[in-house]
Amino acid sequence: MVRVFEQAVAEFVGAKSGVALSSGTSALHATMHAIGIRPGDEVIVSPMTFVATSNAVVFQGGTPIFADVNDNTLLLEPQQVEKKITPRTKAVIAVDYAGHPCDYDLLREICDKHGLFLVADACHALGAKYKERNVGTLADLTVFSFHPVKHITTGEGGMVVTDDLELAEKIRRFRNHGISSDHYERAEQGTWYYEMVELGYNYRITDFQCALGLSQLRKLPCWIDRRREIASCYNEAFASLPAIKLLRVCLNVFHVYHLYVIRLNTDKFRVDRRKIFSALREEGIGVNVHYIPVHLHPFYRQRFGTRPTLCPVAEAAYEQILSLPIFPAMTDQYVSNVVTAVQKVMRAHPE
Ligand SMILES: *Cc1c(COP(=O)(O)O)cnc(C)c1O
Repeated sequence: MVRVFEQAVAEFVGAKSGVALSSGTSALHATMHAIGIRPGDEVIVSPMTFVATSNAVVFQGGTPIFADVNDNTLLLEPQQVEKKITPRTKAVIAVDYAGHPCDYDLLREICDKHGLFLVADACHALGAKYKERNVGTLADLTVFSFHPVKHITTGEGGMVVTDDLELAEKIRRFRNHGISSDHYERAEQGTWYYEMVELGYNYRITDFQCALGLSQLRKLPCWIDRRREIASCYNEAFASLPAIKLLRVCLNVFHVYHLYVIRLNTDKFRVDRRKIFSALREEGIGVNVHYIPVHLHPFYRQRFGTRPTLCPVAEAAYEQILSLPIFPAMTDQYVSNVVTAVQKVMRAHPE
C-alpha cells in the first residue's frame, strides 16, 4: 500500500516519484539529507511557517537563514531571498503559506542563477496550482504532510515528490536506516543480504496508513472545492469590514485554503488582536494564530542569535493575523455563525 499510495500522490501532482514517510517533518529532514545539507551550510527559509520547516535544516547541522515575507501574501519574498544568499547558501525552502503557492518562477530564477536547490514545503498546498502548473512540480523537491489538520491525512505521515529519481532513492534509503534495499525488495529477490551504506532513521510509514491516505486522496478534489467555497463566503462577508484586511490572492494561482487568515487593520483602527482572539473564542469560534515567526522562538534566538527586527514584515503581520475555522465538513450554518461572530466582535471592540 505504501508504493500504491506513493504512485497515486505522484500521479495526482504530476511528479515522477513519491516517497512516503512517517511525517511531514521526517520528509523535510530526509529532503535536507538528500540535498546534502551539512554543518556550515545555509538554507534560506520563511519565518512565517511551522517550526518543522527550519528545524529540518538544524537536524542536519545546517543554519537556517530567515528571509522576510511579502506584506500582501505573507509568502517568502524573492527579493529578500536574493539578499540573504552567501557562498554558504545551498538551498531555499519556500512555504506555500495557507495554501497559496509561492512565486515559483522568480524563486526558480534566483535558485538557478546561484546554483541552489529549490525545496517546496507544500504541507499547506496539496492540490494547489501556480500558473496552471501543479504544486509538486514547481520545485526540485516538494514536501507534503498528512497530519490530521492537513488536506488529507494518514494519521501522521508525509511525502516527498520529485522528478529526480536519484534524490528519491536517497530519501527512500534515509527512511530505512540508510539500508540500500527494503524488506519488500529482498523478499522479491529471495535474499537475506542487505547493506547499510549510510546513517538513516526509521522514518517509515505503514501500509494501513497508506490505505487510509489512498481513500482520502479520492475525496481531496471535493474537499478543496468546499474549502474554496467557504473562503469565498468569508471574502464576501469581510470585504465590507474596514478593520479587516484580507491577504492578497494572486490571479495566477489556484489557492487551496489550508488556512483562512484575516489581518486586523491595527494601523488605522484601534483593534487589539489579543482581545479579538479572546472575544471570538468566547463566542465559541475556534480561532488561532499561524504563525509565531520562527526566528522569535527561544531556541532560535539562543542557537542562532535571531531576534526581533530580523524580519519586520513577518513580525508586524504576526501582531495582526487570526486564522478562522475552515474545513470541508463545515456546515453553511457554522460558516455564517463565524461571519456573524466576527462582525459582532469587530463592532464591539474598535475602542
Ligand atoms: C504541518 C506542517 C509541517 C510538518 O508536518 P508534520 O506532518 O506535522 O510533521 C511542516 N511544515 C508546515 C508548513 C506544516 O504546516
